[in-house]
Amino acid sequence: MKQAVEQGTLYVISAPSGAGKTSLVAAMLRNDEKLGVSVSHTTRPMRDGEVDGVNYHFVSRDAFELMISRGDFLEHADVFGNYYGTSHIWVRETLARGQDVILEIDWQGAEQVRRLMPECVSIFIVPPSAEALRGRLTGRGTDAPEVVERRLKEAAEECRHALAFDYLVVNDQFEVALADLLAIVRSQRLRMAVQQDRHRALLTGLSQ
Ligand code: 5GP
Repeated sequence: MKQAVEQGTLYVISAPSGAGKTSLVAAMLRNDEKLGVSVSHTTRPMRDGEVDGVNYHFVSRDAFELMISRGDFLEHADVFGNYYGTSHIWVRETLARGQDVILEIDWQGAEQVRRLMPECVSIFIVPPSAEALRGRLTGRGTDAPEVVERRLKEAAEECRHALAFDYLVVNDQFEVALADLLAIVRSQRLRMAVQQDRHRALLTGLSQ
């Protein structure tokens, strides 16, 4: 008889912009081939260097609203004036194949996913201080002050929801934050609920 594949774990990762979330998630994927990341749909314009279908699926507002009406999204949200959403088909199929999935989404999406899939593991990443965040968001110093102020307000709004997450990772040193994230993933795979299926024969043998 074919053995049932154990379901993968769903990780929801949120952070204020400037916390280094995207680079950390990319490094997690390079370090662990059992992890996959969902490519979201968005209506925001493509930035330089982004590739359609890789960073996001870039779609029009009309196309996005059609997808909402068809029930295509596991979660979706209006984030600072643009729509973002996670297609549920890919996520559910990938988890069903036993692969772990990361969603890089905002706090509103995280809230929806926690409600629908309470078994998910949610992680919030923060920079080490308000000054560091300000420094990272001010960046090259070429942006207008009102743009920087808006980014800071948006980051503070995201951080107000940190306590709803299961884990908090502080990205002071990149390698330490990466190790923390990989430790969370590793600990999930060692949970008895997961291990007892994987090692059923061993546990049975040891108990006789
Ligand atoms: P950016 O436009 O800078 O790539 O992302 C802006 C914000 O949208 C980030 O907080 C990012 O995590 C969030 N985001 C990206 N994809 C999704 C998604 O599919 N759903 C939700 N709810 N937020 C998303």
